[in-house]
This record gives sequence, structure tokens and C-alpha cells, in this order.
Amino acid sequence: MVPQTRRQNRMSKVLRWNMSKAYRVVFECPKSRHNINLQRKCANASLSETEAMQMFGDEEISCTNPNCGWHGKASATKLLRILPFNWILSAAT
Ligand SMILES: [Zn+2]
Repeated sequence: MVPQTRRQNRMSKVLRWNMSKAYRVVFECPKSRHNINLQRKCANASLSETEAMQMFGDEEISCTNPNCGWHGKASATKLLRILPFNWILSAAT
């Protein structure tokens, strides 16, 4: 296991990386107000809250807090923040 992991790490350094526009959307867990992050590639130059809810509303999401355990549709939560970022993609398959 260990030698294989080391080899994969070395290989990842010579891969070419492609960047893709993406958004991280932060929802509020309706049970205990935890933050739930969702990331999605999206070519839009900007993303409004309405557009984000259209994109993510039907997604089944789970609260990341193990003591909470809430899960349900994103549309049941409150949208807190939309953060654009560059998603780095490996060119290799
Ligand atoms: Zn929660």
C-alpha cells in the first residue's frame, strides 16, 4: 500500500492541470444552523441566489456535523453565501 501511494503522489506532480470556473455554495442546516458546502462546476460568469437555488435546489445534501445528521433537499435550507473559485481539473483520465 505504502509504495503505491508514494508513486501516485509523484505522478500527480507531472500532470497538466486545467482550471474550470466553479462555485461553492454555503447552505444553512435548518436543524442546527451548521454550514453545508456544496461545490459545482459552472461556466456562468456570475451566479445569483435564484440561479443557485435552481441549480442546487433539488440536490440531496447532508449536514457535515456528525452530531446533527440532518439531510434533505437543498431547497429546504437557507442559502448563505455564493463563492466563485477555480476548480482545478486533472487533464489525465
Ligand atoms: Zn446540522
